[in-house]
Amino acid sequence: MMELPEAAAMAAQITATLSGKRIAHAVANASPHKFAWYSGDPAEYNDRLAGKTIRSAAPRAGLVEVHADDMVLALSTSLRYLDKDEKPPKKHQLLLSFEDATALVATVQMWGCLACFREGENAGVPDYLEAIKQPSPLSAAFDRAYFSTLFGPDTGTLSAKAFLATEQRIPGLGNGVAQDILWTSHIHPKRKMATLSGAEIESLFGAVKSVLADMVAQGGRDTERDLFGQPGGYITVLSRNTVDKPCPVCGTAIRKEAYLGGSIYYCGGCQPL
Ligand SMILES: [Zn+2]
Repeated sequence: MMELPEAAAMAAQITATLSGKRIAHAVANASPHKFAWYSGDPAEYNDRLAGKTIRSAAPRAGLVEVHADDMVLALSTSLRYLDKDEKPPKKHQLLLSFEDATALVATVQMWGCLACFREGENAGVPDYLEAIKQPSPLSAAFDRAYFSTLFGPDTGTLSAKAFLATEQRIPGLGNGVAQDILWTSHIHPKRKMATLSGAEIESLFGAVKSVLADMVAQGGRDTERDLFGQPGGYITVLSRNTVDKPCPVCGTAIRKEAYLGGSIYYCGGCQPL
């Protein structure tokens, strides 16, 4: 599962590295995974992809769309480029071997989309369709007025973490990137949305825009790996890398807790509950 900054970085790397490469062979579902979502029968992926040439890639929410002639791959899993002498991992859910003996391998961790469909046709993966419906938080269309439309009658009872990172309310914004957005806006992840002041909501909107833009500009977060297996350049303030370390602003130790089916990180000094 990928989030927006890493999808943006990955798409740029795929465009730069794979454009012009012709697919010799595609293997999908070599290691069946309960939460790997394919378009139709993965056994047909070779027929759909062999002989196609990679043209470009673009981020779409927490997915990378790879265009190979008239085919589209929409991938939200870990992706790795393999040079000529590199062997793929034993388990993988998609392997594209190129005619120059390099390859792209996709592996699913918790869950992941591996859609493959003809341009303009239905991807056959509901999650993908949901992800691309709303405007990207990086786009001009995602402005303060649009942000207001995300608030409904039940929003007040949600925690700030649930508001930001569940139900795909904001495409590509997941639990990982939500941590630094909430820290930047001085909002504890468990704060109920109804308790936020107008100024705090303004601050939250500003942080969604600025923190995501910063993460994208720096090639994704340092907790995630890029196409070449390297960590991104954005140094996370709140992540597994910084638990128990002092907050860079106030010095309070950064805490980790389990909350709503994932980990939250916070600074008790900057983000009082
Ligand atoms: Zn702090």
